[in-house]
Amino acid sequence: MIFENELIKQIIEKYRVIWALGHARALMSWDSQTYMPEEGVRERAIARSMLSVLAQKLILKPEFVELVDKASQIEDLNIYEKGIVRVLQRTIRIMKALPSEFIAEYSKVTQEAMLAWKQAKEKNDYNIFKPYLEKIIELSKKQAGYLGWEEHPYDALVDLYEEGLRTRDVDYILSRLKKEIKRVLDKIMSEKLYPLKHELEEIRYDPKVMEKINKEVLKLLGFPIGKRARLDISPHPFTQSMGIFDVRITTRYEGIDFKRTLMSTIHEYGHALYELQIDPALSTTPITGGVSLGIHEGQSRFWENIVGRSREFVEVIYPILRENLEFIVKYSPEEIYYYFNTVRPSLIRTEADEVTYNLHILLRAELEKLMVAGEIKADDLPELWNNMMEELLGVKPRNYSEGILQDIHWSMGNIGYFPTYTLGNLVAAQMRHHMLRESINISEAIRTKQFKIIQEWQKEKIHKWGKTFAPKELLRRAFGEEYNPDYFIKYLEEKYLKH
Ligand code: MG
Repeated sequence: MIFENELIKQIIEKYRVIWALGHARALMSWDSQTYMPEEGVRERAIARSMLSVLAQKLILKPEFVELVDKASQIEDLNIYEKGIVRVLQRTIRIMKALPSEFIAEYSKVTQEAMLAWKQAKEKNDYNIFKPYLEKIIELSKKQAGYLGWEEHPYDALVDLYEEGLRTRDVDYILSRLKKEIKRVLDKIMSEKLYPLKHELEEIRYDPKVMEKINKEVLKLLGFPIGKRARLDISPHPFTQSMGIFDVRITTRYEGIDFKRTLMSTIHEYGHALYELQIDPALSTTPITGGVSLGIHEGQSRFWENIVGRSREFVEVIYPILRENLEFIVKYSPEEIYYYFNTVRPSLIRTEADEVTYNLHILLRAELEKLMVAGEIKADDLPELWNNMMEELLGVKPRNYSEGILQDIHWSMGNIGYFPTYTLGNLVAAQMRHHMLRESINISEAIRTKQFKIIQEWQKEKIHKWGKTFAPKELLRRAFGEEYNPDYFIKYLEEKYLKH
């Protein structure tokens, strides 16, 4: 048994019902994005919010809080037990900081804002969304005030998505990336090292056929479909874990440009692998599940980009592609590799390649910081957005829908979320660096389909720990350092400039 302390055992016992409520909500959430009939949302939204109110009540129950307080004073807890105390203290702190009137207002405003955003985007009319964004900025400032911060109000918000992340970390990482990415990008473009476009992007496919391919590729990676996992369809691909033994991913089929569904499937597989490889001893405890959005995204980006877009991986899946897609025979694996790795400065974040992607995040993080610091108004945002796009990527949106209105995040009140995408790219490259340093031959493992070698390494370093350690501590233990942008730059150079 990894939990020995009697008080901790008591906490885990009491926590189990809170876990069960989370399990039910996870299943409801998965269902509402996959199979629920449209109007089901009218009652589902109520059911979900009632369950989360109930969970919150149970966590803030004085007896439970007292148990956690008591446990925090014990000196000889083991690492797992300390993890439980850390996670619960953090949850309690955040829940206590936000008054219930604030939570009610926040959820009302964001619900309306999401509808307004959707309409605004469809009609390409920023004015529909603007008053809501104004309110959300105000609420976020308030939220930062309630949560507390030391150096910058943005600290309080990013910490919600990435425990321990600070604005100065974000600033350091993004300013370093800005300079280096531009250098790499300029070289790729001026020397035409990678194609801007590929004709395969225009070729249509049959969704049924692509579903078969996705499943075969997942099988190759060892994804336990039917046993502990599922692959379904949803408008926005996601991963939902019900626990360690039931982890579900989704993908979408647009009928054109098959790398999009394939890469998004492999991306979600990376998220799922993290959840599947958590130590089963942590099941139903407060420290089960991935520790943060950034570390999670690191796993998905590793599989999507470092594995999925490699030459070796293309070689490995080439027979599957050729057997199922009649147009593939015209293209060599080398050509498919270039199709998977087109590089072009573009307007839409979700369509960005791995070279330009972080510049989209830089723009959003800069604007979020200004919003939270009260230095800009919703009125100024579209122009700022467009000017920054031009400065960073040399492209300018022609309308709001391909500019400021493209992402759902701000309408949901998720200010401070974006930087975790960049952390994901860093963590993926960081894992690659340390694997190579420990003589794990990644290319060879892929070429010989021995994905287990990579999976086992990830399990030992990151996955099995769940939330035992806070993100920065987890990285220090695994790699002897925290988030480090250098490896991502090195990876870009090796992949894009040395071929
Ligand atoms: Mg992801």
